[in-house]
Amino acid sequence: MKLDNKTAIVTGARRGIGRTIALALAKEGANVVVSDISQEDCQKVVTEIEGLGRKGLALKCDVTSRAEVEDMVRRTVAEFGKVDILVNNAGIISFKPFLELTDEDWDNTLNVNLKGQFLCARAVAKEMAKNKWGRIINIASISSGGCGIAFPLIAHYTASKGGVMALTEALALELTPQGINVNAICPGAIDTDMVKVLKESGQLEQLLLRIPKGRLGQPEDIANLAVFLASDESDYISGAAIVIDGGWLTT
Ligand code: NAP
Repeated sequence: MKLDNKTAIVTGARRGIGRTIALALAKEGANVVVSDISQEDCQKVVTEIEGLGRKGLALKCDVTSRAEVEDMVRRTVAEFGKVDILVNNAGIISFKPFLELTDEDWDNTLNVNLKGQFLCARAVAKEMAKNKWGRIINIASISSGGCGIAFPLIAHYTASKGGVMALTEALALELTPQGINVNAICPGAIDTDMVKVLKESGQLEQLLLRIPKGRLGQPEDIANLAVFLASDESDYISGAAIVIDGGWLTT
């Protein structure tokens, strides 16, 4: 299998895209640390991983806490001997007109979505460098300025994901010579709790008209790409931001 003998950490993995990525990595042979801000449900994902014949470890880790992030990496190395793959997936979103955004809205979003990825990448890269092999996969968004598009009501989220794109490039430049590839995945609209608001507000049909594929993405669509980026097959890809949006950005 593509990820035999690899150890992966996935943040924000008790549900949604993170959970699906954790299971997909395990299906390809990796042992997986399932971490989230609350340990609730992480153990259930670990049980599913064990059902696939791999090892899992459920850990509470708030990605905004340096102490918890460093503890997560320490415990991963203690359990599995190394860390090869990090999927920086944990993220939050909230919707507000720009003029109503509070300092707290801004800080919370930037702390989880951007600082969290920095803290996790820094902690794992030190371990990966020892083995001269690593994969850091940052979950960004098509809503990240630059390569993507801007949406109303999420200026703080867009800024955080734009930061993720910039961080990805900067880390790729510094870490690729040490054997650590760093890439970003930029999802469009993926069918998780995060897009529930679209369904509840009756905007889904309108949105689907703008997506050439005519459907929301599924977490598995993102997981398939994450497995590829985690594997040796993607050896020559670093510093890339890969859009996976059913063609939305073409419209
Ligand atoms: P989700 O269903 O809301 O899951 C996010 C997970 O992150 C939850 O388990 C959440 O924990 C966890 N989390 C939140 N704050 C955390 C923190 N401080 N530390 C650790 N974990 C934390 O979202 P999703 O749709 O799977 O999104 C996953 C990633 O994809 C995010 O980075 C998101 O921005 C990105 N993305 C999603 C879409 C989409 O359409 N769904 C599109 C573009 C990008 P709780 O369960 O406790 O809240």
